Amino acid sequence: MSAVSSSDVILATGDAPWKVAVTPFRVMDQIYYIGNVWVGAYLIDTGEGLILLDTMCAETTYLMVDAIYRLGYRPEQIRYILLSHAHIDHVGGAQMLKQLTGAKVFLSAEDDEFRHNEQALHAEAAMPADVFFRDYPYEVDCHYDDRKPIELGNVRIDTRLTPGHTPGVTTFLIHVRKEDGSEVTAAMHGGVGVLTMSDAYFAQAGIPSCLRDRFIADCEDMANLKVDVCLPSHPAHYPGDFFELSKSLHKDPDALVDYTAWRRFLTDRAAMARKLAEKKT
Ligand SMILES: [Zn+2]
Repeated sequence: MSAVSSSDVILATGDAPWKVAVTPFRVMDQIYYIGNVWVGAYLIDTGEGLILLDTMCAETTYLMVDAIYRLGYRPEQIRYILLSHAHIDHVGGAQMLKQLTGAKVFLSAEDDEFRHNEQALHAEAAMPADVFFRDYPYEVDCHYDDRKPIELGNVRIDTRLTPGHTPGVTTFLIHVRKEDGSEVTAAMHGGVGVLTMSDAYFAQAGIPSCLRDRFIADCEDMANLKVDVCLPSHPAHYPGDFFELSKSLHKDPDALVDYTAWRRFLTDRAAMARKLAEKKT
């Protein structure tokens, strides 16, 4: 699956979404992968309802609904839909899933503004993903408050504004309390693609290029956090072969537990952004 080139995958997502389908699987404890080959999405069973991280493109919403049922859940059990950032490959299914589930939709205040900003939209329209996918308007119910974790059942999610890829990218630190009282942590950085961190893009979108410095600083800072499982918002960004590793999960449920993955991932992404800064694009 990972050998497919990203442009082929983007095209298939729009034209023949079934080709990018991934059989849903348990990543760790109560967290499941329900994304596709290209874009990540996660379902978290808190014991008192479900939380959904990201909604992928509208074209693949039906795959996500199918994945939820295949795991033995129902869409209406979803209480919160947490959006990582306002790019169409992560928010395209937001309105359909909100209507289907009745869940509250969260986005950062910064990206709620960004998604309505005419100049930014113009720059975004030139991005590959925006050319192919249906753009459904969606309503946001709540903005993140990084001082207030989102808590449900035995899960606590700390949010952190980590701009750069967009002005309002949100990173999720997901703490799962186990029956024996111990805690495991998974984390998803909301957006690390450097395509939208060039000087040319920032100028076109009217976004200050200092956000790239902030992105680098945040990556370096968060790399020190102890994270058991790194959840990629795009599987291709995982520092290793995410799907290949996941094949071992049926015999080793901890196959994706790797204390170095989060650090390696953030260090790599910071280096990519730094290279871009040095190029002065
Ligand atoms: Zn994005």
